[in-house]
Amino acid sequence: MMTLKQLITSTYNFAEWRMSLEDIKFNKFLLQPQIGTKILLATSRAKSSGKSGNKEYVTLIQFLGVEYEEHEPSDDEHTAIKLLTGPDADASTVYLYDPLDGNKINVQVECSCSDYYFRFAWWNYEHGCHYGRRPRPYVPVKGSNRPPVNPDHIPGMCKHLNSLVETLKYNKIPDFK
Ligand SMILES: [Zn+2]
Repeated sequence: MMTLKQLITSTYNFAEWRMSLEDIKFNKFLLQPQIGTKILLATSRAKSSGKSGNKEYVTLIQFLGVEYEEHEPSDDEHTAIKLLTGPDADASTVYLYDPLDGNKINVQVECSCSDYYFRFAWWNYEHGCHYGRRPRPYVPVKGSNRPPVNPDHIPGMCKHLNSLVETLKYNKIPDFK
């Protein structure tokens, strides 16, 4: 397991990382609270306009161990956050018991781009922070002269995931205390 903070720090430690958030556009993100399993799923479709043309990627962050309230709390003991969920999400309004703490909340991530798949998916899986099915393990192509894309086996996030994190942080989901 890794917290969001650990995953962000790990990504910044990635020596070859080139951050380019400018060419990413998020139309919107969708929050899907799953109360019974204490999960909050944030998904976005990231459009990337670059040399390769317009492509759309499905980007996903799952927050684990989320405490919900189904009714607006009447006391002043804590700050409940009303979740604004999209039209496809759970119809009932739910509240976060407290703002999610980015330093403590465990996450699992996935992006449909090839950078995530080849660079990070397997190592994230090994660290328990890859969302979904077990990816195929990284195997260097025999006879290839290309250097491995992640020689130090560092878990991390592609630029789409980084952009989604920035968007979520702007909306205080999560907050960094
Ligand atoms: Zn990506």
